Order: sequence, then C-alpha cells, then structure tokens
Amino acid sequence: MMLSFYPGPSKVYPQIATYMQDAYQSGLLSVNHRSGEAMEMVKETYRLLHEKLHIPEDYHVAFMSSATEGWEIIAQSITQKQSLHAYNGSFGQKWAEYTQKLGIEVTHRPFGLNEECRLTEDAEIICLTQNETSNGTQIRSSTLQRIREQTSGLIALDATSSIAGVEFDWTLGDIWFASVQKCFGLPAGLGIMIYSPRALKRAEEINERNHYNSLLFIHENAAKFQTHYTPNVLNIYLLKRVLEHVSVLADVAKHIENRAQMMIQFINQKTRWTTLADQALVQSDTVLAITGEKEKISQIKTTAKSHGIMLGNGYGNWKENTFRIANFPAITDNEFSILKHFITQN
Ligand SMILES: *Cc1c(COP(=O)(O)O)cnc(C)c1O
Repeated sequence: MMLSFYPGPSKVYPQIATYMQDAYQSGLLSVNHRSGEAMEMVKETYRLLHEKLHIPEDYHVAFMSSATEGWEIIAQSITQKQSLHAYNGSFGQKWAEYTQKLGIEVTHRPFGLNEECRLTEDAEIICLTQNETSNGTQIRSSTLQRIREQTSGLIALDATSSIAGVEFDWTLGDIWFASVQKCFGLPAGLGIMIYSPRALKRAEEINERNHYNSLLFIHENAAKFQTHYTPNVLNIYLLKRVLEHVSVLADVAKHIENRAQMMIQFINQKTRWTTLADQALVQSDTVLAITGEKEKISQIKTTAKSHGIMLGNGYGNWKENTFRIANFPAITDNEFSILKHFITQN
C-alpha cells in the first residue's frame, strides 16, 4: 500500500480495517438513525469529542456532511447581513465567495502569506481559516487572542485540517468546524461543527428555518442525539472508535508540533527545497507546503509515486509550484523517516 502524505483525504488509521468489521458485526449499520442504538452511539461520540478535545461543557457539537456544508450553514443561519472574511489562501477565498453568492455582503480582507492576520475592524461575524490547507499556514492562538480582544463580532473558524491535531482555546471562537478525513484519520464523508452558546443565541435571534440544514434544526436534532439528515452512521461509529483509541489532544498536539518543527527545519536546511511560508508565526503544524521549480515539483511527485510514496499536489494558486505534506496524527514517525530519506535523495 502507498504511504500517503496527502492532506485530505489522507491516511486513515490502520485500525479502521478492524473497526469496519466490528461496525458490520454490531448490526449498527442497519439500524434507523432515530433508534435508541443510534442515539446512544451519537451521544457517546459527542461525549468523547468533548473529553478528548477538551471542548468546554457549554459548547455544542453537531454532525454535518462535510466542512463545506459548514460554510453554507454559517452564511444562512448565523449571519444576518454582513460578514468579514480575512484569508491568505484558496479555502478562505472560496468560503468568502460562496458566502457572497448566498446573498451576504462580504468584506474581503486578504493578507500576505507570511503576514500575521491582523484585524482591527469589527463585523457581525468574522470568518477565518485557522489552518489554510492550500498553502500550509495557520492563525495561531496568540493572533486569535488579539483578534478576539479587538473585535466583538462572532468568530467562525474553518479548522478543517487542524482539529484533532492542534490544541485550541475553544473560547477564542464561536463556531469551529472540521471534516474527519484530515486530522481524525478517517475516511471522508462526515463534518463536525462545534459552536458556542453565543452562536446559538445569534441563530435564535435570526430564526432562519428555511433549510433542512438550518442551524436551529441541526441543534434541535443534536440535542436529542439525532441528526438533521440520515447521517453516515459508519463514519460516526469509526469516529467513536478512533476517539476511544487516541490519546488526549494535548499529547497528540505536542507531538504534531514537534514533528512539524523538525520537518520544516529539515526541509529548509538539509534539502534543496524550501517551505512556502518562512515565518514560524504562520507556519502550519499540520500541513506543509514545499516550494521549488515547476518541473522539479512535478518530477519529485512522480518519483515519489514510483517509490510508493504519495505526496500532496499543490492547491489553488500554488498548484504548480508546491507539493504538500500532511503532518496528521495517523501518520507515524517511521513513515516520516522514510519520507525524509526519500526527499534527501530527490
Ligand atoms: C478539506 C478542507 C475543506 C473541505 O472539506 P470537505 O470535507 O471536503 O467539505 C474546507 N476547508 C479547509 C481548510 C479544508 O482543508
């Protein structure tokens, strides 16, 4: 099997093979999603998310079908009129564009790749991509803290490729969301939304109920341990099993952070490649974007494949001149040693 460093869909935990068998044997795959068994499973998975990720008691958790759905839910249910989007990459930009298409007045605040995200203006809701998967940058807690202090609007964070790999002070945001095919090491097809009492209050004030996935419906279902749609029960089961298995996030995050620093140093000092972002303050812990000449990039990806190693393609503006490496928890240190050895020779 290929060693995958693709930043999503990414390497799944090897235990998934057994968990899938178990899911089948348990009979859960055939039960109705409003049955007691399914509700019990959803309830336990919410509890494990709170426990393992240290999510505050009063923050709610709900399932959706993907992180992209999160963009839409925020625009339709938590935003009255205007939103402010600060971004430095493709995912943040797409989020802003879809929000605009949904009829929201969007203020665009693009910022530079190696720049800290600084916002002094306020808005009804501020939308930030905490981990920009397209270019390997992140907004660190110190930056978020400053934004929180200088603004009073709700803060929504796309942390799709960092939740379960990076530790957060959840209170610095009101709506956080992720997909399970990144740091959770699961197959794609399930999104997770984490939202504050303040976000829920805003949704209640707006009282938008025109969509099957209006946040109020999502919340009313989640409060009963149900979902607003027939969910990916298999993936919820797998998520529960993975959460039972993984260490508390503090330990995982420390390991991921150290490994990111080790890899960034290695790339910049020991190889002919360089990381796209060169400021430690903005370099992502979970996704590395590595830059070089176009031809060399295409060459290393092909050579890697023939050595059984899958590197991530570049994305958006950086499609041609970068390749990406996921530094997700399911990938082992041993796999990183193999990768380093390969890159040294290429
Ligand atoms: C992967 C990703 C998405 C999209 O996730 P889906 O589950 O495919 O909808 C959105 N934002 C960021 C930052 C991502 O990395």
